[in-house]
Amino acid sequence: MSIEANLREIRDRIDAACLRIGRNPRDVRLVAVSKTKPTAMIDEAAAAGQTLFGENYVQEFLAKAEQVMAKVEWHFIGSLQSNKVKYLREKVAMIHSVDRLSLAREIDRQWSKAGYPADILIQVNLGEEESKSGTQEAALEELVRSIAALPNVRIGGLMALPPYLDDPEMVRPFFRRLRHLAEKLSALDIPGVAMRELSMGMSHDFEVAIEEGATLVRVGSAIFGSRR
Ligand SMILES: *Cc1c(COP(=O)(O)O)cnc(C)c1O
Repeated sequence: MSIEANLREIRDRIDAACLRIGRNPRDVRLVAVSKTKPTAMIDEAAAAGQTLFGENYVQEFLAKAEQVMAKVEWHFIGSLQSNKVKYLREKVAMIHSVDRLSLAREIDRQWSKAGYPADILIQVNLGEEESKSGTQEAALEELVRSIAALPNVRIGGLMALPPYLDDPEMVRPFFRRLRHLAEKLSALDIPGVAMRELSMGMSHDFEVAIEEGATLVRVGSAIFGSRR
């Protein structure tokens, strides 16, 4: 299938998932995850109306952002080293993967030169998986409070990359858990913190994520084809 047809199908499935639980489809944005895929595919998706793209690797992102012809919005969704943050300033509209104070401090420092705050999400490691990035739940509130005090960073919500499980229904408890964490944080009314966004759900489980409240779904292979 073409990228255009894939996008249309995903968008239909997003709309259907929203309808099932009475959400407005406009409240769910599709992040087309284009990592490892050539720029031509990004331009093809953009020509089909896709405006929001997610990338994981700084060097790859920089090279592709230069080449892409269409005017698109970029979100950075991969694990990020502090020394690379400077390359993202004024190039990405959101960083989904902030999981430690040192990284947030560097984002704050870099964005102080931009004249507007960085929009970030806090990545949570829900499965307590050693191999994955994301802050542990037990450390989440303190991390959010510390980051919220930084003047050039705006926390807009939470992001998670739950374990891959063949049956998407098995992932539902993780999505629900992320929503509950966001609700708890929201109730604390921490200045500088808005729990507007839940970035969760990928190619094989985005519909379940939407049913559990996702506002940003990060879909790669279902749009661009498998990466292997
Ligand atoms: C690669 C990636 C995705 C997309 O995964 P697919 O299974 O291809 O949809 C989403 N989120 C993150 C953080 C990723 O690294």
